[in-house]
Amino acid sequence: MYKEQDFDVIVIGAGHAGCEAALASARLGLETCIFTINIDTIAQLSCNPAIGGLAKGHLVREIDALGGEMAKVTDRSGIQFRMLNLSKGPAVWSLRAQADRVLYRNNMRQSLERQKNLSIKQAMVENIVVSDNSVKGVITSLGVFYGARAVIVTTGTFLKGLMHIGLDSFQAGRAGEFPSIGLSDSLKSLGLKMGRLKTGTPPRLDAKSIDFSKTTVQYGDDPPLPFSYSTQKITNPQLPCYITYTNKKTHEIILKSLHRSPLYSGKIKGIGPRYCPSIEDKVIRFAEKERHQVFLEPEGIETTEYYANGISTSLPYDVQIEIVRSIEGLENAEIMRPAYAIEYDFVYPIQLRHTLEVKNIDGLYLAGQINGTSGYEEAAAQGLVAGINASLKLKGKEPLILGRDEAYIGVLIDDLVTKGTTEPYRMFTSRAEYRLLLRHDNADFRLMDKGYGIGLVSEAVYERFREKKRLMDREIERLKKVRVKPSHEINNALLSLGTSAISEDTSLDKILKRPEIRYDFIKKFSSPPEPLTSEIEGIVEINVKYEGYIQKQMEMAEKLKKLEYKKIPADFNYKGIAGLSHEIIEKLSEVRPETIGQASRIPGITPTAISIILISVERYW
Ligand code: FAD
Repeated sequence: MYKEQDFDVIVIGAGHAGCEAALASARLGLETCIFTINIDTIAQLSCNPAIGGLAKGHLVREIDALGGEMAKVTDRSGIQFRMLNLSKGPAVWSLRAQADRVLYRNNMRQSLERQKNLSIKQAMVENIVVSDNSVKGVITSLGVFYGARAVIVTTGTFLKGLMHIGLDSFQAGRAGEFPSIGLSDSLKSLGLKMGRLKTGTPPRLDAKSIDFSKTTVQYGDDPPLPFSYSTQKITNPQLPCYITYTNKKTHEIILKSLHRSPLYSGKIKGIGPRYCPSIEDKVIRFAEKERHQVFLEPEGIETTEYYANGISTSLPYDVQIEIVRSIEGLENAEIMRPAYAIEYDFVYPIQLRHTLEVKNIDGLYLAGQINGTSGYEEAAAQGLVAGINASLKLKGKEPLILGRDEAYIGVLIDDLVTKGTTEPYRMFTSRAEYRLLLRHDNADFRLMDKGYGIGLVSEAVYERFREKKRLMDREIERLKKVRVKPSHEINNALLSLGTSAISEDTSLDKILKRPEIRYDFIKKFSSPPEPLTSEIEGIVEINVKYEGYIQKQMEMAEKLKKLEYKKIPADFNYKGIAGLSHEIIEKLSEVRPETIGQASRIPGITPTAISIILISVERYW
């Protein structure tokens, strides 16, 4: 076997998880190598060319606050930005950006290529070499060995990938790319338990053949708000999306063709994403619905290719054409790329620690879709955490473990390693207990100290954050101190907004707490000593308005932290504890929770079991 050079960290896969992992490790000064089957598809947006959206937008902001790359690349590649959910509370506002697929790939590739300490290699990794329960390196399909002190596997949908279009199937990692067969067997031979999942994508259409006049146009926000705390302005031209609908005829075509669907004929065994269903799933599960929305989204500035969001399918090509052409505006549409479904192997994530290191293999980390998640943002978040933790461990430093009250990334990883998943896992705001603490607008307040402390956030970005915090704190203080006297002017203004007049001196923050009042109103009566940006005004408003609720959630989180800090010894033997049922012992032995808090979140673990374990753990120490 030919032996090439040794690295500190090897990352297998240059998708969204791999890019973040490799950049983090190289930026932290470790000699890093990233392997990909095809250099031209680095950071490929395999499905929808869009980043963010509900809860996922929060993840992107958190990645940025910790010093990751996804938000910056999105800002450089975005062609439409929209803040979603503005009609609801601030906890669920979320930014979403449509990206130019080619620009996204090129911009991320540029970040990797310009990064010091980072080598990029096109090669298929076939084997992970482990001895004495410790990772030693990898072997490629050309029989080349590369040594490493840590290996991070981020292979997405490629492990034994099997594509389906109708009843035809082909081995592939995703459309037009080789699958990864040997590596899946290598992971299995290391003792990892694996399962099979499925996901799908809709057809891409040629804009020349779409009648946009029959659709509804949807513009982005003007001016667009960037994702990254380091972006000053979005400079790409901004493009609209279009909305049309399926109809009765579309649904009839689908129903009469179900026997040709690999999903409904039982050919696909993997479990699909419940929350991102195919059009055939939607037509069956929501039979009462007469139509489903279809968003026509541009794939880029320089292309006529459009993504038909909402009609993901694995039905045969001739049926796909019928489906598309039954939709208003798409009567003459040409399919440029067909829809397809893909099945792939994944690793049950309860075999990982919160650092994303495999429990019984020192130095082996897994991140991204390989852990059963679905989505670019979920993948990138895990990649960043794995890259940081592999580096911290090699430097002999404490790991980065984010709490459920600190970040959606904390919720994501805790869910994966504690509850596991048997279907593609995607992030939702409803998965977080402390939604009011984990807002989109305050990711920097929650995480930038950590990103800076680790060494991934630049001095300039951190200094801007400190200034923002100073201005915010000062304004909140001012609103508490400044009192307004009752006057015709203010009382008429209050009454005109449907809220009551004031009868005595009242502090500005008390007025701002009223649901009808926005910060703009306060500013008219008493402006701050120096003008604030609209971003800071927004944060001030949220912090003042929701102060009571935020305080309550913080107290709750603080109470539960006591359990979170109670460590369970790694070799703790549950079998010897009287009072625990067989089923509970089995579950605890499988997950091997690191703290009492984690144990309490394992499905099926009762409060009584927790008190019994707590007593035993206290005796043990
Ligand atoms: P990927 O982005 O898949 O990257 C994997 C990387 O690993 C690639 O660079 C590949 O070359 C490399 N690689 C694999 N094996 C090897 C090897 N042996 N040696 C070297 N390199 C290797 N997400 C959603 O949120 N919603 C959706 O509706 C959705 N639909 C999808 C539909 C399809 C058809 C596909 C393919 C994906 C879909 N996704 C969807 C998922 C989304 O694309 C992924 O979640 C995300 O890209 C995962 O990122 P990742 O970094 O884990 O892996």
